[in-house]
Amino acid sequence: MVLRQLAPVPQASRNGNTRPAKESAVLQRDLSYDFALLARGEGNYLVLEDGRKIFDGSGGAAVGCLGWGNQRVAEAVMKQVLAIPYCATVFYTTGVQEELCCYLVESTKGHMGRAYIVNSGSEAMEAAVKLARQYFLELTPSQPQRTRFISRRQSYHGITLGALAVGGHDYRRAKFEPLLMKNATRVSPCNAYRGKNPGETDEDYVARLAKELDDEFQTVGPDTVCAFIAEPVVGAALGCMPAVPGYFKAVAEVCRKYGALLIFDEVMCGMGRTGTLHAWEQEGVAPDIQTIGKALGGGYQPVAGVLASKHVMDVLQKGSSVFVHGHTYQGHPAGCAAALEVQRIILEENLLANVRAMGALLSRRLKERLASHPNVGNIRGRGLFWALEFVANKATAEPFPVEDHVAMEICEKGLSKEYLVNVYPGSGSADGIRGDHIIISPAFNIRSDEVEWLVETIGRLVDDYFAEKRRQ
Ligand code: PMP
Repeated sequence: MVLRQLAPVPQASRNGNTRPAKESAVLQRDLSYDFALLARGEGNYLVLEDGRKIFDGSGGAAVGCLGWGNQRVAEAVMKQVLAIPYCATVFYTTGVQEELCCYLVESTKGHMGRAYIVNSGSEAMEAAVKLARQYFLELTPSQPQRTRFISRRQSYHGITLGALAVGGHDYRRAKFEPLLMKNATRVSPCNAYRGKNPGETDEDYVARLAKELDDEFQTVGPDTVCAFIAEPVVGAALGCMPAVPGYFKAVAEVCRKYGALLIFDEVMCGMGRTGTLHAWEQEGVAPDIQTIGKALGGGYQPVAGVLASKHVMDVLQKGSSVFVHGHTYQGHPAGCAAALEVQRIILEENLLANVRAMGALLSRRLKERLASHPNVGNIRGRGLFWALEFVANKATAEPFPVEDHVAMEICEKGLSKEYLVNVYPGSGSADGIRGDHIIISPAFNIRSDEVEWLVETIGRLVDDYFAEKRRQ
């Protein structure tokens, strides 16, 4: 069959100018941006049908951790598909599923007890929420009154109804609000750039946020909460935002005080992205339940997972029934094979050390090149997970109007022939909310000359974009 696209149709762009946008038979969210036909990936480059070769500075949505076209991963998947591509997990398991779960459990140095493999981050979060609820039902004595979840504003935990309900992404929630469970509430995120009061120390900020969480427990009923949910380093919803030191210890303490579980969503920041396999290792706090995704399989298969602590598993195993959950494609052999091979390569090539070294270089060079730019308000991140936040006024940190779509336009401009670089628009104006940031999250095997090129190219892109914007 010949690959065919529908005819171009004129469509109003976001700026009100009319430009030809491509039409597509794919049910897609937004056709007002040009979308490119991706032909293949070569290492850290994306090759488009029109010949453009673009450096992938974000691994798609912080997914690619080995780059593209990895022969070993492709062969591992093919071998598994030929051996057995599918496994109904009631009576069967596969070697790849067992080995992957075993690896994940062992990687937590005795903290986690079991792993559960699914196909997407949203599925992982759905499972995490249900697991927390079932834990309290299986406890002796049972605590059926625990039905509530507390998470944070400006967070994203997935797009399905349960995951959306516990998330704090206003734009993605808005249209579906009436469908979302009402027993999820939110507190402030830890945002050192925008959340701290003038002159406030990290310690005082942490104490204030811990008190806010404590107050929320009191407001909703301290013995009604199943779990507090947070990303150790907030990804798309806030732009690679790590917490200030001591924050996670303080909120974990509040959870312990009220007997609630701590769920860490590491779908975006986990599996090595921040320089340790699990981002929580850098916080000195281990969660009761953890979700993982993107860098687990590096994009070679749709694969994500949930880890449950030994303590949670003990309670569940003594309980009245197994975890009442299940997907047709859970533990999918091709997904497990891809994840296993990706993780083997990360270990064999010592890529986490490279994430730390190249992350330090990326951080230093981004700050040298862009910290004094009048429209770059903040540069933050960890490992190979960095964001630039753009502002209209650096002194007041005033964001650009949503209608300007600054992050989206910068990312789109990056794909043009002058730059040929792929960076990722986090949320912000990409989702019609205020505050623009772009995410820089290259593959774990990036080299120092590539980091230098990436920073220089992004620097030029940002300079040119805002120079043009000022002339308009
Ligand atoms: N949690 C976080 C932190 C995420 O970044 C994402 C995806 N961006 C999800 C959950 C949902 O994952 P998926 O898109 O694979 O369903």
